[in-house]
Amino acid sequence: MRTPRTAGLVTVLGLLAGLGCTAVPSGDSGASSPPPERVELPVTPAETEARDPSRTWIIMLGTGTPGAEPGRFGPATAVVAGGTAYLVDAGPGVVRRAAAGAIVSGLTALQPQNLRIAFFTHLHSDHTLGYPDLILSPWVLGRAAPLQTFGPPGLREMTDSLLDAFSEDIRVRVEGPEQLRRDLLVVEPQEISPGVVYEDEAIRVEAFAVPHGTWEYAFGYKLTTNDRTIVISGDTGPFDELAEIARGADVLVHEAYGASGLREREAPTQQYHGTFHTSAVKVGQIAAEAGVGMVILTHQLHLSGDTDVEMVEQVRLSFDGEVFYGRDLDVF
Ligand SMILES: [Zn+2]
Ligand SMILES: [Zn+2]
Repeated sequence: MRTPRTAGLVTVLGLLAGLGCTAVPSGDSGASSPPPERVELPVTPAETEARDPSRTWIIMLGTGTPGAEPGRFGPATAVVAGGTAYLVDAGPGVVRRAAAGAIVSGLTALQPQNLRIAFFTHLHSDHTLGYPDLILSPWVLGRAAPLQTFGPPGLREMTDSLLDAFSEDIRVRVEGPEQLRRDLLVVEPQEISPGVVYEDEAIRVEAFAVPHGTWEYAFGYKLTTNDRTIVISGDTGPFDELAEIARGADVLVHEAYGASGLREREAPTQQYHGTFHTSAVKVGQIAAEAGVGMVILTHQLHLSGDTDVEMVEQVRLSFDGEVFYGRDLDVF
């Protein structure tokens, strides 16, 4: 099912992600020279690969963490099925990443004006800083449908507060020469509890509670379409019950930290990561127990030492299926 990442796409990823700090010297920040009048995305048709829209796709919009790594945007994963993009989390840069995802995959559901459904795992800022972006940017760009959002208690208040915070922007865009339609800026937040939280003809989405340190409410999601079952862990500490929830799933998208790096850190750091997050070794054990078809790591915390390859190897200690170190704009 997974289309291997091509060398061309890697190139695209590197360019889009702002990877390769060597190619963009820090001194060349743009401050000394005016920006070009029109910026073209460095993507050509030869470097993209159109995906069959009748199938279900996973697009890693952001695999990052709170760390401001230039090549890894804030946590956000898109599942595209039946012509609709279902977002899980909205970290910083989510709308631009979706726009890039639309280009590399050819899936128009990811175009900003088509983003209308999002599920939040929890309300940590790294997972929600893109929420105002998701509310406002697609509206400015022509979204005509309400934005439906699902997430833990607190989502409604966050939504109301964000609309309030941007009220002057909204007023100017509606009353000024832009003449945007205020009635098209509709957000419908739903505070959820575990169980089926959303269903349409293309997908069924179930939320399950996960232990994420001192958060009272944190969820993972199981998304079932007619050709794939995808389980997304969200941020979670070690969670054995996930093996039952994910049993037989095609794909497990799981957060992870490097297992050996943690041992070299101070006790409070060990305590934090041990209860808020899951080691790559543990991810492998859960994946093996669940018998999933594929593991995609995301929200990777390297702590000290563990490389990409080592984290994948840590998963493989127990799990002998496919394991991918997820990178921004990977398409599976
Ligand atoms: Zn996080
Ligand atoms: Zn978190």
